[in-house]
Parts: sequence; structure tokens; C-alpha cells
Amino acid sequence: MAAVTFEGVTRRFSPTSRPAVDHLDLDIGDGEFLVLVGPSGCGKTTTLRMLAGLDPVDEGTIRIGDRVVDGIPAKDRDIAMVFQNYALYPHWTVARNMSFGLRVRGVPKPERKRRVLQAAAMLDLEPLLGRRPSELSGGQRQRVAMGRAIVREPQVFLMDEPLSNLDAKLRVQTRAQIAELQRRLDVTTVYVTHDQTEAMTMGDRIAVLDQGVLQQLGTPIELYDRPANAFVARFMGSPAMSTWTSRVEDDAIAFGSRRIEVPRAVVAGLDGAADVLVGARQEDLRLVGEDEEGADVVVSLVEEYGSDGSLHGEASGLAIDDTPVPVVVRVDGRAHPLTGDRVRVRPDAERLHWFHADTGVRLG
Ligand code: ATP
Repeated sequence: MAAVTFEGVTRRFSPTSRPAVDHLDLDIGDGEFLVLVGPSGCGKTTTLRMLAGLDPVDEGTIRIGDRVVDGIPAKDRDIAMVFQNYALYPHWTVARNMSFGLRVRGVPKPERKRRVLQAAAMLDLEPLLGRRPSELSGGQRQRVAMGRAIVREPQVFLMDEPLSNLDAKLRVQTRAQIAELQRRLDVTTVYVTHDQTEAMTMGDRIAVLDQGVLQQLGTPIELYDRPANAFVARFMGSPAMSTWTSRVEDDAIAFGSRRIEVPRAVVAGLDGAADVLVGARQEDLRLVGEDEEGADVVVSLVEEYGSDGSLHGEASGLAIDDTPVPVVVRVDGRAHPLTGDRVRVRPDAERLHWFHADTGVRLG
């Protein structure tokens, strides 16, 4: 086991384009499960590949434990990687696929056997050790790929979208198994995904990347409750946080017919700017009676989850020029409004998020 440190790490694929990874500083604790998340092209895979030694670092330093690994080839870094395509050898049995990495490292046969049996027991693979990959389901192949990483007993696990080839139900099951297994093994793990739900449910901490730049590093709840900027606010959480730009007048904004005071710290952060970017999660907006103060929302879609639902619609009386603002409101129970209905909505003012309208940086 070992901590992993990125210090000012930069990767440029061409001298003219912006860096794929831009001065990344990241401390990953010993035994931590860190998830790297962000939209396609944000630099997640490049970050992982630099740590693995598969891509060079143009600037900065990476450490595994107290060892600077710059220039150390992938095979000598004491890491094990699980790829999205699993990369299993089709003609070999599960047992041979799992033990191959140990053979090339010269681990003696009895030790190889012990480790393979131990990993197979952890992953429920014992009855499958004699099969070939073509005789396995997608979920079983995924477990073999995990097993092959585990038998290496590396200092660090690297996983690049390891669940992307599984169907939705199996993905949910397997993400819980991987998270549980990682905690049992207590091996530092860096896990790449573009799926914010995977990030929220699996990571001890999450690093959100956009355009090669680290946007925020924190626990799932920190990111959800106190996103550092509008990008993180909209990226983390499903459905995405509703956001709109409001005009601040007399230290307050209008939410339809309701006046909402802007917290003092937010006003201070605005530094005289006239507008503020406001954000509300679906659970912080609620339906109120027609005679109460609030904003009118015309419902365009109701997503039914059984126990509750999400009401999507367009709100008036929020944005500066009164253009309709798309909002999502969580509704409990089964007596939901229907598509086309007009409802009145009010926010829990304490739970609104405030960002600088130009920079997107969190205020207050
Ligand atoms: P995805 O989720 O789509 O896999 P990602 O977040 O993993 O995306 P990277 O694959 O790290 O993103 O790519 C980051 C940026 O670097 C992208 O703009 C990509 O086009 C660019 N890039 C990646 N690999 C190369 C390469 N070999 N040559 C040139 N540009 C590259």
C-alpha cells in the first residue's frame, strides 16, 4: 500500500493545444478509494495512464509512496490496472489468465496457486477457474479482470471505467462489490469514470476534472452540498441542479412573487456585481398552494420512480429577462401533477447555492 501524489502534473499532446492535464495537484491517501470523474475528454484516462507509466509526464512529478516514479517503466511501478475491455487472453483458462502476471514476474508456482485460489474465493470465481473467457458472462469476465489485479498484491489499483461493459443492473451490483472489496483489501485505488452516480456511491473522495483542470476534491457529500463552482454543481447529482441568473436588488432576488434575501457573505462576494447565479437541487424545491408566494412552473415531464418522482418544467419569474428557466422539483407520493399542469414552487432558501455569475465560483 502507498499514498499517491501528483505535483503540478501536466500532459500536452501538442505544443499548440491546451494541455490534456493541466498542473494537477492531488494527494491520494494510503488505502484511499479515489474516483476521478468528469465529462468525456476532461483528462481522466490521461491522468491514470501517467500514473501507470503508460503516458509520459511533460511537467511535474508523480510519487507512489515516497518513490518518484517519473521515468520508471509501467512494469516496475507496483500497480495493477483493470481496463474497461478486461484484456483477457481468450485461449487461456480463468486460472491462467489470473496467474499470468505472477508467472512473468517469476513468482513460484505454489505461491501463484495460493494467491489465485484466495482471489477466486473472494470473487466467487472458484467454480469457473477452468473455463475460458468465451464461456463466461460479462459480469464474470469483469470479476476475472479484478482477480488478475488482486493476485498481483500491488501497492495501487488503477481502474478505468471497469463497469462500462455491464448492463445497468449488473453495474449497480458490481459497483457495490468493488467498493466493498477495496475496503477489505485496503489498497490505494484510483478509479476513473464519467458517471457521477458511480463516483458518489464508490469513492472515499472524488476529484472532478474539467478540461484538464481539477475543479474540486472532496468527499461525495462535500461535493454535493458545497460544490466549489457551477460546473461541479451541475455535474454532481442526478438530475442536475437547476441554475439560473438573477438580478440582485436591495440584497434580494425575486423567486416569482417571493422575495429571497441574498446571504450577507454572498453579497460581499459579489463585490458590486449586479447579477448572481443561483442553484437549487430538486429536493430543495417544493410545491406550495396557488395562493402562496412562489414561482409558477409549467410541467413538461413527470419522471416516476415509484416511491417519489421528479417533475421537470419551466419556471417563470426567476431569470433577469424573465426567460423561462428549466427546473426539476422532487415530488413525494403518488398524487403528482401531470404534464401540462401549472404549479407553484418555492425553494428552501437556506439550501440555495450561490455562484458568481461570470466566474461560476461559489459564494458564501
Ligand atoms: P473519455 O471519458 O472520453 O475517455 P477522458 O476524460 O478519459 O475522456 P482523455 O482520454 O484523458 O479524456 O483525453 C483528454 C484530452 O486529451 C482530450 O482532449 C483528448 O482528445 C486528448 N488526447 C488523449 N489522447 C490523445 C492522443 N494520444 N493524442 C492526442 N490527443 C489526445
